[in-house]
Amino acid sequence: MDSETHKKLHAFFFPVMAQGHLIPMIDIARLFASRGVKVTILTTPSNASLFSNTIDCDAQLGLDISVQLIPFPSVEAGLPEGCENLSSITSPSMTNNFFKALDLFQLPLEKLLQEQQYPAHCIIAGMFFPWVTDLATKLGIPRFIFCGTSFFSRCVTDSIKRYAPHQSLKSNSDPFIVPSLPDQIELTRSQVPETKSEFAELLERVRKSEERSHGVLFNSFYELEPAYADHYKKVIGRKAWDIGPVSLRNRDFADKAQRGNNTYIDGHEYCLNWLDKKKSNSVLYVCFGSVTRFTASQLVAIAMALETSGHPFIWVVRSEEREIPEGFEERNEGKGLIIRDWAPQVLILDHPAVGGFVTHCGWNSTLESVSAGVPMITWPLFAEQFYNEKLVTQVLRIGVSVGAHEWSGFVGEGNAAAVKREDIEKAVEQLMGGGEEAERMSSRATELKEKARRAVEEGGSSYTNLTNLIEELRLHVRLEA
Ligand code: UDP
Repeated sequence: MDSETHKKLHAFFFPVMAQGHLIPMIDIARLFASRGVKVTILTTPSNASLFSNTIDCDAQLGLDISVQLIPFPSVEAGLPEGCENLSSITSPSMTNNFFKALDLFQLPLEKLLQEQQYPAHCIIAGMFFPWVTDLATKLGIPRFIFCGTSFFSRCVTDSIKRYAPHQSLKSNSDPFIVPSLPDQIELTRSQVPETKSEFAELLERVRKSEERSHGVLFNSFYELEPAYADHYKKVIGRKAWDIGPVSLRNRDFADKAQRGNNTYIDGHEYCLNWLDKKKSNSVLYVCFGSVTRFTASQLVAIAMALETSGHPFIWVVRSEEREIPEGFEERNEGKGLIIRDWAPQVLILDHPAVGGFVTHCGWNSTLESVSAGVPMITWPLFAEQFYNEKLVTQVLRIGVSVGAHEWSGFVGEGNAAAVKREDIEKAVEQLMGGGEEAERMSSRATELKEKARRAVEEGGSSYTNLTNLIEELRLHVRLEA
């Protein structure tokens, strides 16, 4: 490389095409750019359209950040044309094809990296591209993994892999203690991924690539889960940088409103005006992330519970989820607001009227709730969400569990109504109905919100970790600051 012309650190970002990965990685890319790093984000055309306005604004403000496009191999992977994001998946077989498609980026990415006029000094790629580690080695640049979850869940995963404490259990519902963690965490086998599925094989490849990568970036902050950040770094022995909550990078209205999707902004103002009319901490926000689709009977159970609970609510439903009981919206007019498809989640959680969040415990949602000081009702469905639930309810004690016991998949293929209406009502009452424990959860959540904000301010733990990482990279490629 011509060291005179390429003096600026160039970080190359390659996010997994799923909102839960794309959204925080765009925030991280923007954070790097705001620290004087040249940033290129590589993604497919329809994914780029979800955040290109934001990146254009950053570039106009003088940041050295741009997007490069690469086609998504939908048809080659057996997916319909235009299916470029995990949120477009509607069946389990499509899920497998989606993950196969991610492997097909290997050759095009190699070619593209080799042809960069301004070569990349490092690549930060999503966890579901395990092969990027070998590619980076071949190109002689460090590979970082963005893993998109908590230290806590990575520690649980590691312990379960190492000790297999659940293998000898007779029944899926028998509890076991996760060995050698800082807290006594109990799970059942039905909350742990199947060991023989294609997804489990992928997770194993991810784990191995993590071991061999230059390090892992975490959207978390030290003060949130110190024992687990230490366990991950010192006991498991991986190099990691906790640089979150990265959602706090979005400070003004436009940034928060456009996060994750540029196209729904029109309705956002209506939603915020609606919240303005509600009492402080009175509204329950109900949203299950970007990929979950419930069965008809589960939707009915949620609707009935919200209706009887008496608390105002905002409920985000996907366009495929049509089975909301007839007349529900009319009967609950004024008390409940249904948002179809995409809600401005960070704006909603930050609103003082919101007092609780029913969440599937996707890590971004969990951390956004923490950053806003909002306690949660936890309703995990798949992936590492059952582990995040334990962090929220048992370690941080800022949430109550709705009592979901087993994986139900994310495209509505699971149990008809895995969680009963009465259980939803009970959890809502516990969180929103006042009482000492609800108040304690709320004040713990407020304390964490303050800690989160301090972590990303200049001198805070996450701020400093990012400074150190960038410095280390500059030293690694012998660049000046
Ligand atoms: N999100 C949003 N509006 C929605 C649904 C989701 O802004 O209507 C955002 C949410 O704020 C979070 C991400 O999408 O940043 C979802 O990530 P998470 O890890 O919580 O769940 P996943 O979608 O990966 O299951």
